Amino acid sequence: MTNAAVIVAAGRGLRAGGGLAKQWRDIAGRAVADWTIARFAAHPRIDRVVVVLNPEDPTGWERYGARGDLTLCAGGAQRSDTVRCGLRALAGSDVTNVLIHDVARPCIDAQTISAVIDALDTSPGAAPGLVVTDALWTGADGAVTGTRDRTGLFAAQTPQGFHFDAILAAHEAVHEAAPESAAASAADDVAIARAAGLHVAIVAGKAENIKITTADDFDRAARILGRQMDIRLGNGYDVHRFVPGDHVTLCGIKIPHDQRLDGHSDADVAMHAVTDAIYGALAEGDIGRHFPPSDPQWKGAASEIFLRHAVELARARGFGVSNVDVTLVCERPKIGPHAQAMQSEMARIMDLAPDRVSVKATTSERLGFTGRSEGIAALATASLVAP
Ligand code: MG
Repeated sequence: MTNAAVIVAAGRGLRAGGGLAKQWRDIAGRAVADWTIARFAAHPRIDRVVVVLNPEDPTGWERYGARGDLTLCAGGAQRSDTVRCGLRALAGSDVTNVLIHDVARPCIDAQTISAVIDALDTSPGAAPGLVVTDALWTGADGAVTGTRDRTGLFAAQTPQGFHFDAILAAHEAVHEAAPESAAASAADDVAIARAAGLHVAIVAGKAENIKITTADDFDRAARILGRQMDIRLGNGYDVHRFVPGDHVTLCGIKIPHDQRLDGHSDADVAMHAVTDAIYGALAEGDIGRHFPPSDPQWKGAASEIFLRHAVELARARGFGVSNVDVTLVCERPKIGPHAQAMQSEMARIMDLAPDRVSVKATTSERLGFTGRSEGIAALATASLVAP
């Protein structure tokens, strides 16, 4: 069983205000699309993620172009064209089930995704629906004009899941029959599946799986995501001793000095502390576990390799690095003149905004081994966030 997700992100979504398509607007520190995509990319039962983007909006192409775990493709004029483009990107692959999801629902949870996949064992289609509990009115000109019986009514949500071959055929059929028809412009894929005679099971939806439509929805989504967020902290500590030499490497920056730091790799004590903090947040041991000093291939290695590995491991677990803070303890060299370059270099390696990377230094008042300039110590904290 191979499960794919198609994230529909080609809309302009200007109703929500802000001038920027809603999927690129920020919620709790990340773009709406980042949240949504992360939910599927990190789900253990989703094997492939296709993101369908607006060919005229460069944002998504720039943002995800380098992501090897995502397939990007260009959407069409109306929603069903866009979905069809995403489905075609999977044609000829081994995909058996596909979940089609609206990018504007970033609060989708892993449990609902699993429930839709499970329901596809016994039905060619399955989608989350929420029983309507509010009374329903019709209205006009600001006044109630009637009431409607809510019995048997559901609010439709996504992801809407289908057997892949069946939904691709249904989309192609509706498009061939009447490309401009009401069915072809249908707001959701359940309508297209039903038009093709497919049975669609209803799984329990969640009230939190809101669709961001208006400006107020951003605040609501931020509160929901804030509650759902999994935040991990880790700390790291490292020491390297001075030996005769002519420079040290700290946070990836080569600093002239009358000594160097001794170590198996480039002895970048600050980068090691940050790397260990990230491993610590993941409960994944330390650098020594992943890059044993007994292994000659790491002799003289640039510590960037270690830091990148830790960041990638975090990403593979569904976590992004939110921020890091490192303190160097030494009398010399002076860190201040290099702190900004160190911050920029660490941000580049971790693919973070520089304001999420703090590099600072202190002396130890000439006390202890750092005070006697026998070596440099570094302490670091890292925070990781998973949606
Ligand atoms: Mg070290």
